[in-house]
Amino acid sequence: MEAYDAIIVGGGCAGTTAAFFLKEYRPEMNVLLIDRLDGKNFDLYHRMCGEAVSESAFRELRPLRAEQVVHDINYVEERWPGGVVLGIRHRGYIVDRPRLLRSIQARYLARGGIMENDALLSARRENGRYELECSSGRKVAARSLIGADGFNSRVRRDIFGTTPPEVIWTEQYLVDKQVPEHKIVFIQGERYNGGYRWEFPAGKHARIGFPRGTDVVREDIIERHRRAIPTGSLERIAYGRCYLAGDAAAMPNPLTFGGIRVAMLAGRQAAEAVLWDDPERYERWWRSSMFSHPSFMRAFDHFAGLDDAGYAESSRVFGSGLLPFAFLKAMFRYPQYRDLYMAYVRSAIVGW
Ligand SMILES: Cc1cc2nc3c(=O)[nH]c(=O)nc-3n(C[C@H](O)[C@H](O)[C@H](O)COP(=O)(O)OP(=O)(O)OC[C@H]3O[C@@H](n4cnc5c(N)ncnc54)[C@H](O)[C@@H]3O)c2cc1C
Repeated sequence: MEAYDAIIVGGGCAGTTAAFFLKEYRPEMNVLLIDRLDGKNFDLYHRMCGEAVSESAFRELRPLRAEQVVHDINYVEERWPGGVVLGIRHRGYIVDRPRLLRSIQARYLARGGIMENDALLSARRENGRYELECSSGRKVAARSLIGADGFNSRVRRDIFGTTPPEVIWTEQYLVDKQVPEHKIVFIQGERYNGGYRWEFPAGKHARIGFPRGTDVVREDIIERHRRAIPTGSLERIAYGRCYLAGDAAAMPNPLTFGGIRVAMLAGRQAAEAVLWDDPERYERWWRSSMFSHPSFMRAFDHFAGLDDAGYAESSRVFGSGLLPFAFLKAMFRYPQYRDLYMAYVRSAIVGW
């Protein structure tokens, strides 16, 4: 059995970032990153995403920086039932996610990191280390394990024995439509069951998505994707020396469906916890960070129970814009929506 200091399962946003930071901080560490996909399949899987990332993400991830940028985003537009259209200046990017991941992986490999195309079949803890069996028949072991293997995580299944509290199934289409280049659009309403419809620029095309079965697209379809978004946060994300990060840990925000930034940050935090040999540090980071605030899930449930009249009533006060005065007025005039307003403010800070 091959032995490593640390093994990371999953080379997506969380796993690639964890691998990068392990070798960045401690180049002599013997690290293995495995992913079940490579080549075109890896690219296809990672394109199934709006690929929108807030500028703040890359401030928190230095020395990683925004690269492979397809569009600079400077405006978020929200359309609410009742006709209110909210505009927020917010800087971010639409990235070419497969290329961004490959670029970070190249830096990891250049520092001597090892990456293999293999699928984890099972993981177990034995004599204080983690033993993994892969689909190639290969057996590997390590003192520390990072499970970054997405919503259907085998590491979560085998080591933690838990499932995400909430899974939102979504469909997304790459369509032949020209949309403004610097803006992302969200459309709210009762039909989206607490979620929303999104329309993002994607090169010369657009990406349109929504919770599965809640809407249709009328444009010519170039690609169609279906994928789950696990959310609601797990009770534990560190167990022994095993860490879950990103979708494996149900970290995406239920209000915005944003999961890239938090997955990358969790990857970094998990790498730091491995290096400090301090799993509790990782738990503490997650529990105390705004990303895991319980108000997001409560607001999602509240939205899911609203009809269009409720959406319209809760947003009417912002008809002339998201001004501080309007926010105060909303908090006093509509106490029944206070939880939504507070979660909304938080999601503007950490939502994507
Ligand atoms: C339709 C849609 C649109 C989205 N749009 C956005 C957006 O615009 N902005 C945003 O911030 N978030 C968005 N998200 C959420 C975001 O895509 C995820 O939260 C993010 O990809 C999580 O990254 P991750 O690394 O945790 O998991 P993943 O990206 O799922 O990566 C997991 C990796 O693990 C590998 N793997 C899985 N099982 C195994 C195994 N057994 N063995 C080895 N490898 C394995 C997979 O091949 C994959 O490479 C969207 C999600 C969906 C579904």
